[in-house]
Amino acid sequence: MAPRRRLGIMGGTFDPIHYGHLVTAEEARVQFGLEQVIFVPNRHPPHKDPREVTDPEHRYLMTFLATATNPHFTISRLEIEREGPSYTIDTIVEFKRRHPDEALSYITGADAILQILRGEWEDSPRLLALCDFIAATRPGFVLDHDAVRANNVTGRRLDNIHFMEIPALAISSTDIRRRVALGRPIKYLVPEPVESYIVQHGLYGAAAPTRAEARRSPDD
Ligand code: ATP
Ligand code: MG
Repeated sequence: MAPRRRLGIMGGTFDPIHYGHLVTAEEARVQFGLEQVIFVPNRHPPHKDPREVTDPEHRYLMTFLATATNPHFTISRLEIEREGPSYTIDTIVEFKRRHPDEALSYITGADAILQILRGEWEDSPRLLALCDFIAATRPGFVLDHDAVRANNVTGRRLDNIHFMEIPALAISSTDIRRRVALGRPIKYLVPEPVESYIVQHGLYGAAAPTRAEARRSPDD
């Protein structure tokens, strides 16, 4: 029998999406032979104050702009369309229903997998049993077999968590939002269309472009 095709699911708030997310997804795709990586921006991240999270449609569009040039990346509106808190367990159950013939790998950074292991996500033990996980290194977090053992709420041996080394990118959406608010650069931290979108829509307290800047063409 041919090996099952494998899909990667990359969930997040993406407020905004940055190169840390993109490098993680692409590295997972290549290292684990994923057919596609599906980005799933959430609507209402259960751990965040909804008033402090940018409108889901802005986050969705920025994720779309950032992933458009990679033919192996797609984006799903599943969580954006679903009312209430965006629980990953519901998303994985739904993707398994939609893709019965494919294996699923949920891609996370080190911070997220440690939260799941500690039982901080909805139905964490069931989530851990439902699919494979690809957990990427992230500056500021220790991720190894000992960390998994020490944080594992299930007490079971978890052979379905795969570690992945990625080039260290100390980039976070929190830092990008802070930088924008302070007028500091975010160029080379996010794809250029995302940077332009943030400026055009005045997200995160970005100063609107002056009329002369907005009119300027690349040939000026
Ligand atoms: P925030 O600072 O607002 O929490 P974030 O940068 O952590 O934003 P999220 O949308 O919360 O981004 O993260 C989505 C997923 O991407 C999580 O699994 C997270 O661990 C992972 N991730 C985010 N940034 C990085 C990075 N620089 N390296 C590796 N993984 C990352
Ligand atoms: Mg985060």
